[in-house]
Amino acid sequence: MTDSRNKYEAVIGLEVHAQLKTKSKIFCNCPNLFGKDPNTLVCPVCLGLPGVLPVLNKKAVEYSIKTALALKCRVAPFSIFARKNYFYPDLPKGYQISQFEEPLSENGYLEIEIDGNWKKIRIKRIHMEEDAGKLIHPEGDESVSESKIDINRCGVPLIEIVSEPDITTPVEAHLYLKKLKQVLSYLDISDCNMEEGSLRCDANVSIRKKGEKSLGVKTEVKNLNSFKNVEKALDFEINRQKKILEQGGHILQETLYWDARKNQAFIMRRKEYSDDYRYFPEPDLIPLKVSTEWIEKIRKTIPELPNEKKKRLIKQYNIPSYNAEILIDSKELADYFEKCTKFCSDYRTLSNWIIGDVLYILNEKKISITEFRIPPEFLGTMVKLIENKTISGKIAKEVFEEMLKTGKSPEDIVKTKNLIQLTDEDKISDIIETVLKENKEELEKYLNGKEKLFGFFIGQIMKKTRGKANPQIVNKLLKNKLDRLKEK
Ligand code: ADP
Ligand code: MG
Ligand code: ZN
Repeated sequence: MTDSRNKYEAVIGLEVHAQLKTKSKIFCNCPNLFGKDPNTLVCPVCLGLPGVLPVLNKKAVEYSIKTALALKCRVAPFSIFARKNYFYPDLPKGYQISQFEEPLSENGYLEIEIDGNWKKIRIKRIHMEEDAGKLIHPEGDESVSESKIDINRCGVPLIEIVSEPDITTPVEAHLYLKKLKQVLSYLDISDCNMEEGSLRCDANVSIRKKGEKSLGVKTEVKNLNSFKNVEKALDFEINRQKKILEQGGHILQETLYWDARKNQAFIMRRKEYSDDYRYFPEPDLIPLKVSTEWIEKIRKTIPELPNEKKKRLIKQYNIPSYNAEILIDSKELADYFEKCTKFCSDYRTLSNWIIGDVLYILNEKKISITEFRIPPEFLGTMVKLIENKTISGKIAKEVFEEMLKTGKSPEDIVKTKNLIQLTDEDKISDIIETVLKENKEELEKYLNGKEKLFGFFIGQIMKKTRGKANPQIVNKLLKNKLDRLKEK
């Protein structure tokens, strides 16, 4: 039986808005800050009072160019700001200054990795614009019909990054966003916080029969404030479209609103077309001119980017791709890892410690790696102590806890707590003898075939040595001893 749902494939293009973390807004001197008292960060320019003139923020242009270069876009020597006219309560001016026909940059790409393969998602354009204000709707109580408005966000600098429709599954959409967020964070040009709205995503999606070349009619889903929601909303919308087509219906070009609480998308409005906005060149701003020298100067400020870093870490330290992906998710975490490598040589073990125990603590304490108590030197040295068999991996857990608690060096802890691993075979053999003598009954059962008791003996030996015996040596000697007893 063929599943008719498999007849279709999805086509997805994402429009991502990122707020730039400049000190001031894009066209005035108001501070660009989040979370301040409503309507306190405003002036006649961002309020759109008559007679005021916008002045373009140079830093915002610099950050936009930096992003464009990192995403391999061509930066236009001239670009034009345009008025996008629409009425909405969060836009007191009645228009938004954006870019339309001649954007700052075009034709780039971002690579994502799926099942070990790299895939290019083309970037259509990156343009600059100003943010609108924020409407605050009363939560829960639907009898209250009034909403509030906070103008503070008006005029916050934004870049809009528009992808080509090269994404084919919700999972790919998630990977693209995650990668994009990594790049923007590395560039240090945006807070990239989806919950606070400094990174926002609208998802465009259509479906078509597999093998078909032309694109289907798309819908656009808004209000996606987490990566997970983007994935869920796309799944939902793809299924909705499939059902309509299977029933012989047509998809209408509409804008939908994702309700994360109900896990459903609702149709908000018929899609507006660019004609509806009556775009025209912004008369109060001259064309933006960008020199080659400036572009090259900005290019020099771009650090090693996440994908390059990942490839390098795998090659240079021979660590698994899975570990590398987690390490490079934050530049600071990758830096931490690389600092640790100066003190040990088993990088795989080191990377496991960081993506396991270290990240666990960071998540638990809700802190970043830069606030982590254990300096790279100490963690690296701890791994070194495992490597040269001074301590076992198990004892290392105790050393790790102690470093966290006291801030002491691993050598210090090993010495003062007397944690050095027991590797002396004679001593271990003696302990094995004692344990077997003390547990005659179990030994009897073991020799009569109850081999599961091997673990019991190991446990007793480790207990006697307070966990300090080298597990491999204990295993080997115990096995030899029991085998000899069996032969008798
Ligand atoms: P609009 O003018 O409706 O905003 P754009 O051409 O600017 O359309 O594209 C907006 C986004 O929609 C882009 O990310 C683009 O890749 C994506 N897109 C365009 N056409 C389709 C389609 N048929 N199916 C899915 N996504 C599409
Ligand atoms: Mg659009
Ligand atoms: Zn202002």
